Amino acid sequence: MNVLYQNPHEARLLFGRGFRAGMDRREQKKLAAKNEKELRDEIRKKDGIEERPEDAAAQRLKDEAAEMYDTFDMRVDRHWSEKKLEEMTERDWRIFREDFNISYKGSRIPRPMRSWVESKLSSELLKAVDRAGYKTPSPIQMAAIPLGLQQRDVIGVAETGSGKTAAFVLPMLTYITRLPPISEENEAEGPYAVVMAPTRELAQQIEEETVKFAHYLGIKVVSIVGGQSIEEQGFKIRQGCEVVIATPGRLIDCLERRYAVLNQCNYVVLDEADRMIDMGFEPQVVGVLDAMPSSNFKPENEDEELDEKRIYRTTYMFSATMPPAVERLARKYLRNPVVVTIGTAGKATDLITQHVIMVKESEKMPRLQKLLDDLVDKTAIVFINTKKSADFVSKTLEKAGYRVTTLHGGKSQEQREVSLDGFRTKRFNVLVATDVAGRGIDIPDVAHVINYDMPGNIEMYTHRIGRTGRAGKTGTATTFLTLHDTDVFYDLKQMLTQSNSPIPPELARHEASKFKPGSIPDRPPRRNDTVFAH
Ligand code: AMP
Repeated sequence: MNVLYQNPHEARLLFGRGFRAGMDRREQKKLAAKNEKELRDEIRKKDGIEERPEDAAAQRLKDEAAEMYDTFDMRVDRHWSEKKLEEMTERDWRIFREDFNISYKGSRIPRPMRSWVESKLSSELLKAVDRAGYKTPSPIQMAAIPLGLQQRDVIGVAETGSGKTAAFVLPMLTYITRLPPISEENEAEGPYAVVMAPTRELAQQIEEETVKFAHYLGIKVVSIVGGQSIEEQGFKIRQGCEVVIATPGRLIDCLERRYAVLNQCNYVVLDEADRMIDMGFEPQVVGVLDAMPSSNFKPENEDEELDEKRIYRTTYMFSATMPPAVERLARKYLRNPVVVTIGTAGKATDLITQHVIMVKESEKMPRLQKLLDDLVDKTAIVFINTKKSADFVSKTLEKAGYRVTTLHGGKSQEQREVSLDGFRTKRFNVLVATDVAGRGIDIPDVAHVINYDMPGNIEMYTHRIGRTGRAGKTGTATTFLTLHDTDVFYDLKQMLTQSNSPIPPELARHEASKFKPGSIPDRPPRRNDTVFAH
């Protein structure tokens, strides 16, 4: 109603040369030019002066220049995906890394690859990648493959499911193709590359992924895991193979009994290094690393250029966390490594809805059955802390008519494989498991993770719930908490607070949730502590 507001005055930022963020610059510029012209016309009219033709021409030139500047400006601001490789600016690379949640630590880091065609992989490998149906590289592959191709040592922080296997397999196969094929002449010297993984299941998964690409190149892969005849495995290695995929315990057995040697092995991958250390495999891992030739270590001096034609010992290490023992390994066996972190590996993502319910031990089973009834045809993993109670829960559910299978370290190799296969193919929709399945196993599409028992530490909780909400999907995690779990109350409360999840009132007001665990007096282990039931 007030005339004052009928013609609002637009502030002229920087006398017409400034811009507001978030608005089309070209439009702002046009408007500024128009305003200026109107203002000049008005002044001229008031003073009774005609516009001189040369002024009009100069003004037109200025307008055109402004237009051109803007067009140019827009071109610079194109998204990186519309640019050719050589057009990429520092800023584009920064955005690229942000888009894929890639971060690096280290020196002389090569650019990540934006697509398979821009990678330096051979055409044969690219064909194999295409046949595998991998349309675009995953972030860990974008970051780690160029490093591997330069024979750099890599510490990768990425979860299973991120495509990390192919991230080390493809450079490993590239390395092998540079060497003479394994034949009768050199097979006695052992394989060219070794991959170590904490569990048989993970080793087998890595083998599958490796064979997917290796068989096009005629590269032979042998897996050396417990639960199979060591003589047979030794025989397979001696028959000649380029790649060995192994659990550290069994591999060191093979080496000590002289079934295998690593005299020409210069490429080594430690998958889930923290987990191998957790499981007490440090001496075996070190034993294997020491059995490899040390003559090809890269120079300690990080400024020294690597000779592309030389063979260097290359070490890849994947680890979700860096406990001191893993750092020790890295310091001793890696040279000037690049640390690549993808996303916030190891942290619960926003895609997981977390419920924590305070229960009594006796209420767990009826509650569990209620949750499983709500699943309909979706799948769930039920985590239990001990093998014995896993068997009990599994039997009770089976009797009640659920399609359930069990995975724990007390089962034979064959039983475990049958369980996993049955779950993957949805013959069973409930998997009752101890922490063996908590990490490293690639089970897609789990809708619900149920912690029938709360694990003894928050890291394991994070790994367990990370079985759901993968690859952009949403998931639910429900945890049954009892008064036996007070040791993790503090950490769990922090975790729930950080992820904006509801905190049950019993947990929120409990004394144990108010103090850091270190500040509580020690106590002897109790029944409900996490037991690594391998
Ligand atoms: P990983 O994290 O290595 O266990 O891989 C998880 C799953 O993703 C495996 O089943 C792989 O076959 C698959 N995968 C790996 N890389 C790609 C890719 N670039 N595109 C599509 N699928 C992939």
